[in-house]
Amino acid sequence: MRIDRIETFPCLYRVPKPYGDANGLKKYRSCYLIKITTHSGYTGWGECIDWLPTLEKGFRERIIPFLIGKEATDHNQLIQVVSKWHKRAATAVSMALMEILAQKARLSICELWGGAFHTSLPVYASFQSYSLDDNWQMDHSLSLVGKAMQEGFQQFKVKIGGRTLQEDLEHIELLQELLRSNGDLAVDANQSYDLATSRIWARVLEKWPNIMWLEEPMPLDQVKDYQVLRSFSSIPIAAGENLQSPAQFLPFLTKGALDILQPDTMHEGGMAGFRDTLQLARHFGIRVSPHAFDGGLSRLYAMFAQACLAPWSKMDPKTIEPLEWDFMDNPLTQIVTSIKPQAGKLVVPTGIGIGVEIDQERINHYLWDYSTYH
Ligand code: MG
Repeated sequence: MRIDRIETFPCLYRVPKPYGDANGLKKYRSCYLIKITTHSGYTGWGECIDWLPTLEKGFRERIIPFLIGKEATDHNQLIQVVSKWHKRAATAVSMALMEILAQKARLSICELWGGAFHTSLPVYASFQSYSLDDNWQMDHSLSLVGKAMQEGFQQFKVKIGGRTLQEDLEHIELLQELLRSNGDLAVDANQSYDLATSRIWARVLEKWPNIMWLEEPMPLDQVKDYQVLRSFSSIPIAAGENLQSPAQFLPFLTKGALDILQPDTMHEGGMAGFRDTLQLARHFGIRVSPHAFDGGLSRLYAMFAQACLAPWSKMDPKTIEPLEWDFMDNPLTQIVTSIKPQAGKLVVPTGIGIGVEIDQERINHYLWDYSTYH
């Protein structure tokens, strides 16, 4: 089980028609994939995200030389070291070693993690609602949501916080007319507001029964304001995609400041930290809906972790929170070929290892050419 070879696949897609959120428009999407091969022939894929030149230098000059010759079964110790150097890179190594361990044991990832509670999981279509279109509400946002409705999605997440309050409010009113109670809606402000404006949004959203949550209304260092907002409103408050360890979620949990945790598979330094956060939500009796916008493989691991999580409600033993599905133009999320939602649900793979094929042709097609990008 000695690690013999590590290949890297930095991938870049330049978005022809930029789209975005309150943080600005995205002109490119990227992912960084690695493939670890052991001396005995087992292989495992991993994924992480950051600026590609940073990752490429870090892997080539430090992480790969460190890992070559080490035992793939020493996942915990290896991740501890790589996490100190680059937390996000550690995620990719953690995924790849998990797959190798599962293959060696002849088990699926869910079996390796103690077995799944759920054979399928709900997904919500996640949008970047802003574009350069003058009439971005109708020509960009609503047309995309309409497309997702036609494809069978029943849950949707759109952006607020990137335009004036009035413009964003009009956008949500138009969307609700489109949905006409045929779908649930989450709104994501990407930490754009203060408490006063967040309260306005909470009051507005309370008039609709189909609101799933209000996401990141305020900066994440304002735990006290989250606590106030949560006690003020009946709308569930969600956040956490940028937090980097289970410990960073604790202030929100102990102060009762969130209803839904949203850890990202790629931000907690490996599978253990990510799964610990899911479990932490259960220990505190609240919901957890993984953030999984930045890659196909990371979304797959979010599926495995969520499938292994006990239902959050005793009232319905099948109740499990949804996963995020990137509905935007991003061919890099389709590297895991057979994962496609049907009627808003994903079937959890049960084969040995990750149980699905990786589309290497697609990866090769989008390999970054080392040219500068911003
Ligand atoms: Mg978000």
